[in-house]
Amino acid sequence: DVPVLTIDGPSGSGKGTISRLVANALGWHYLDSGALYRAVGLAAAWESVDLSDAEAVATCARRTKLAFKGGDKNSEPRLLVNGVDATDEIRTETAGAAASAIAALPEVRDALLDVQRNFRKLPGLVADGRDMGTVIFPDAQVKVFLDASAEERAQRRYKQLKNKGISVTLAGLLGEIVARDARDANRAIAPLKAASDAVVIDTTGLDIDTVVAQVLSLMTP
Ligand code: C5P
Repeated sequence: DVPVLTIDGPSGSGKGTISRLVANALGWHYLDSGALYRAVGLAAAWESVDLSDAEAVATCARRTKLAFKGGDKNSEPRLLVNGVDATDEIRTETAGAAASAIAALPEVRDALLDVQRNFRKLPGLVADGRDMGTVIFPDAQVKVFLDASAEERAQRRYKQLKNKGISVTLAGLLGEIVARDARDANRAIAPLKAASDAVVIDTTGLDIDTVVAQVLSLMTP
């Protein structure tokens, strides 16, 4: 069986950075499942699909060509959506909110099931998201759930977006993050929660290297 390490958690918990560094250290593939939901939300907006029409969005999800390119420990992979580089466009909070809205539709989650499972390839996969350990890879060898206080998560997102030249206010971001987490945690399908067999790490006040070391320590037999 191809080994999988799942890293789930709310937005700003450090999942993306930690997953990428861990995947790089292990020499494993990396799946950023949130980017797929963001890309589908974006593609739907490009095609003026009504985001509340579940079948229409699911059709859009099945039709949309999604491809990651490159990426290493220092940079996230580029994401091509129907051949268009949408790496920066998917990172705005607007795209995050659209992703969270369509991610609550069972038809859309279903359309992305195989897309996500196809990332499971030798020598192994680090899968980052909300339901990697609970729904997509329930048989994963190691499951991690990263958490952090809402304030710290907002701070981290603020810095990330600022580095990308996206201008937001910290207070606005905190409000958006809290609202998005509430929607992700309270939806009927695949709600954001730790798998019963996940190791929960609260990253509040921890630096990146410390968390990476903690996760890697779970990988040694
Ligand atoms: O992780 P990221 O912030 O990029 O995810 C964007 C949104 O996509 C989340 O708020 C969530 O609603 C949705 N998502 C999901 N399941 C995943 C990954 C992301 O529902 N596995």
